[in-house]
Amino acid sequence: MLVQIKDISKQKLTEITLKDSVTKLRKLALTDSLTQLANRRAFVDAVETELARCQRNGLSATMLVIDLDYFKTINDTYGHLAGDEVLVHTAQILRRATRQYDIIGRLGGEEFAGFMADTDASIACEVAERIRQTIQATPTIVESIPIEVTTSIGISVQTPPSTFENLFDDADEALYQAKAQGRNQTVASDKE
Ligand code: GH3
Ligand code: MG
Ligand code: MG
Repeated sequence: MLVQIKDISKQKLTEITLKDSVTKLRKLALTDSLTQLANRRAFVDAVETELARCQRNGLSATMLVIDLDYFKTINDTYGHLAGDEVLVHTAQILRRATRQYDIIGRLGGEEFAGFMADTDASIACEVAERIRQTIQATPTIVESIPIEVTTSIGISVQTPPSTFENLFDDADEALYQAKAQGRNQTVASDKE
């Protein structure tokens, strides 16, 4: 009898450990290891789920594409590890500047994105400007040296139905314009 109980609990333990490992692995696969933000895949998946909800409820959808300016120069000047710290610092600012239900992710390199449901264009611009100004005003301190960086942000606000590609392409085009106009600024797409 005792032996049997021991066996069952052993099996149960293995099951729990397995489940735990699966959860951890899933989290690893969806998380950017440097910043702990959603990686590109997780960001796209989460946004697509939210877009479906926006469509059902007639809510607007906002995408911000956020790219650090002249980041290559930061790496060249301070080293790649210091550059990494700037990315971590930027992720923290993004987390603090957004609401719990907004989705933020690192799309790759020094490019980040944010998604907000039910947010009109003027609020979206306010949020983007708050992010841009906070990043500009809060240098990353690495070994007592303040590293300053600025960002360019492209915004797209659409009413349903809209697709991830549509939203992203419009925001990306606006970002390109922000870069072309001199960087360190927010540009909203005029497409709806
Ligand atoms: P722009 O203002 O046009 O965006 O210029 P930029 O220098 O920011 O853009 P560019 O695409 O020329 O360079 C991006 C740099 O980002 C080059 C690459 O080495 C660096 N980078 C990409 N991923 C990482 C990373 O994980 N860590 C660090 N430290 N640097 C990275
Ligand atoms: Mg850049
Ligand atoms: Mg870039």
